[in-house]
Amino acid sequence: MRFTCLGSGSAGNALVVESGRTRVMMDCGFGSTETRERLGRVGLRPSDIAGIVVTHEHDDHLGGVARFALKHAIPVYLTRGTAQWLPVEFPAVLVRYINPHTAFSIGDVLIEPFPVPHDAREPVQYVFGDGNVRLGVVTDLGCSTHHVEQKLSNCHALVVECNHDLDMLWGGSYPVGLKNRIAGRFGHLDNATAAAMVKNLERAQLRHVIAAHLSEQNNTPALAVTALANALGCEESWIGVADQRDGFAWRDV
Ligand SMILES: [Zn+2]
Ligand SMILES: [Zn+2]
Repeated sequence: MRFTCLGSGSAGNALVVESGRTRVMMDCGFGSTETRERLGRVGLRPSDIAGIVVTHEHDDHLGGVARFALKHAIPVYLTRGTAQWLPVEFPAVLVRYINPHTAFSIGDVLIEPFPVPHDAREPVQYVFGDGNVRLGVVTDLGCSTHHVEQKLSNCHALVVECNHDLDMLWGGSYPVGLKNRIAGRFGHLDNATAAAMVKNLERAQLRHVIAAHLSEQNNTPALAVTALANALGCEESWIGVADQRDGFAWRDV
């Protein structure tokens, strides 16, 4: 199994997981043309994507899903709460409702959704597997929970939200209401909380950690990497960062 990120942050997210002959996209926050270009950078075409799994309705995740899925006839997997935000004209034949507690598979990719605290209707995040290795992804998480940590334990790779540095957020220029929303329990994970969460996991098999969904205003890659490396007691060079423009290249799990 391998995975790549097409871009990560508040301006758009998409990640691709490949196992056997199946490729699954998680979220699509980019326009159709841009998504095709970003797929091209990692050697893929739209027709390579067997399904799109969606985390929640925020524009940076759902914004590009309907048009891209419709254009290329790709089924979309999402909770009923998230599905309410699809355009009314989106064809039901492409909709696959998921239960946030029930694992499913698309071709050779096993997918375990799990509910997360975030300010959306019925948000989930995902663990992907091939029956052998597991990749856990949490890009929008207000706070950690016991259930989230159970799902992310025993993964071989993790993509973890490191949205902001708390000092940069509070010292920055955002309106106070927005600061409260971001830092709140249904907002986004800061570097220190992300690091503490990863430290709490069962991680004997963990081989890849990637910081994702970094705020361009309220964080730096160096701060996120340092926080995770300190918590894990590893070299900073071992921690990857998914950025808004380039995402990150394919990694074999
Ligand atoms: Zn987001
Ligand atoms: Zn969100």
